[in-house]
Amino acid sequence: MINVTQPYLPPLDEFTPYLEQIWKNKWLTNNGPFHQQFEAALCEYLGVPYISVFSNGTLALLTALQALEIQGEVITTPYSFVATAHSLLWNNITPVFIDVDPIFGNLNPLNIEAAITYKTTAILPVHVYGNPCNHKQIEIIAKKHHLKLIYDAAHSFGVKENGVSICNYGDVSILSFHATKVFNTFEGGAIVCHTKEMKQHIDDLKNFGFRNETTVIAAGINAKMNEVQAAFGLLQLKYIDQAIAKRKHIAELYTKELSEIKGIRLIIQNSKRITQNYSYFPIFISEQEFGKSRDQVYEELKQHGIYARRYFYPLISDFPMYSQLPSATKENLPNAHVLAQEVLCLPMYPDIDMNEVERVISIIKI
Ligand SMILES: *Cc1c(COP(=O)(O)O)cnc(C)c1O
Repeated sequence: MINVTQPYLPPLDEFTPYLEQIWKNKWLTNNGPFHQQFEAALCEYLGVPYISVFSNGTLALLTALQALEIQGEVITTPYSFVATAHSLLWNNITPVFIDVDPIFGNLNPLNIEAAITYKTTAILPVHVYGNPCNHKQIEIIAKKHHLKLIYDAAHSFGVKENGVSICNYGDVSILSFHATKVFNTFEGGAIVCHTKEMKQHIDDLKNFGFRNETTVIAAGINAKMNEVQAAFGLLQLKYIDQAIAKRKHIAELYTKELSEIKGIRLIIQNSKRITQNYSYFPIFISEQEFGKSRDQVYEELKQHGIYARRYFYPLISDFPMYSQLPSATKENLPNAHVLAQEVLCLPMYPDIDMNEVERVISIIKI
């Protein structure tokens, strides 16, 4: 059996010294020594000024929206993991879906302005599969209309453009360190921001709103990362470059074998400016040209014990808590609907055997 992904784990014996240290410290959470070291190490690795780590990415999203005091309506994408829009609903904010570009599946900046109303306070785009959004265009529009800009960068750990982390754009960016992501701390997440003051505010919010022993500045939440996760993250950082290099190798084999097939489209990110993380390997199957539907290919792979995943199908806008929104119609989101019908993410993780990758390819080719 092969799954779409498998979490990357460093050698277990290398983790025991960290655990011994935690047992010695008897400091398990609340900005402990590993938490502090991990934040410093992440700033350095990612090349970002300030980061606050969280117990998971969804809590980071929820807290980011609180930190920026977002309310009313937020313009976002239907083509993402459901947590993107859920973070809005949990904050009593109305998501306004706009269509994505037909190639990468990222929010199309050309659709933003028409969706802005007097209630709009922010834009929440996603760098889908780790491919950078058109952040220049999006930023121009956000500035022009005085909107906050929050990037869901859950897929984008380590992604750079011209050597600059993609997490440096917008007011804040959110990362996820969930087991299924490129970089994991079992569960985990982070908010990247630009000022010391904002980091302080976010740090307070993730700890119930405590500024100090007796002062509570807001109705905060408990979203702190614990010492075991932080220590594990420090160890994971030693292996991340190696893990991404292995992913690249797999992506190259898929690309070589699948790029010439009629009816199968790959996302070819050939911009030399982009440092990729190869987080996913999506293919898009046109039933008309390929002769089989995406779902047929999905089922065939399954019969061979290969569990590819339809990221992202169904669209967020088709889930019951969103489908009644005026922006959730199929007419409003034509490109997103096509992508959701055609996409299949193939198995992609550092420890996959190359023979297994060959097997996936040969089943698709039959
Ligand atoms: C994984 C993911 C999240 C949620 O992160 P968790 O750490 O699992 O809570 C949010 N947005 C996107 C796009 C994701 O892929």
